[in-house]
Amino acid sequence: MALRNILNDNHPVLRKRTDEVKNINSGVLRLLNDMRETMKDADGVGLAANQVGVSKRIIIAADGDEIIYELINPCCEEREGDELGIEGCLSIPQTYGEVERASKVVVTALNRDGKPFRLTAEGLLARVLQHEMDHLEGILFTDKALRLIDPADLQGDEES
Ligand code: ZN
Repeated sequence: MALRNILNDNHPVLRKRTDEVKNINSGVLRLLNDMRETMKDADGVGLAANQVGVSKRIIIAADGDEIIYELINPCCEEREGDELGIEGCLSIPQTYGEVERASKVVVTALNRDGKPFRLTAEGLLARVLQHEMDHLEGILFTDKALRLIDPADLQGDEES
């Protein structure tokens, strides 16, 4: 495994819609492993492949300290409710904002073995999944933030 460089928001790849993964080859598996290590190293709770310069539809999302979900070609099937919450982004350091997201989502994706699965998420995990799937469309949370928040007013918020 290796750490990858996290691009910041002035990089054009973050603004481009990513491509579907057609073939889960060794490059994709290596990318997933590297993304896990890079996210942990950066203390993040989620990461999209284009944040490390690979324009493919791949995201990872942490659920607590133990579980990291890997989603290849994720698709949001259902969304329910809405709630405001504060987000940051590993690609936009020192910037936080209040974003409205669905409070519950059902997402389908492929796992690293190419098997389809369905993930039902609420709370922070639901928020992280929506934030990361936006990355795959070239959308950043600052596009959607209702207001930005001074980092001095926050403590210990997590970034994705
Ligand atoms: Zn982000």
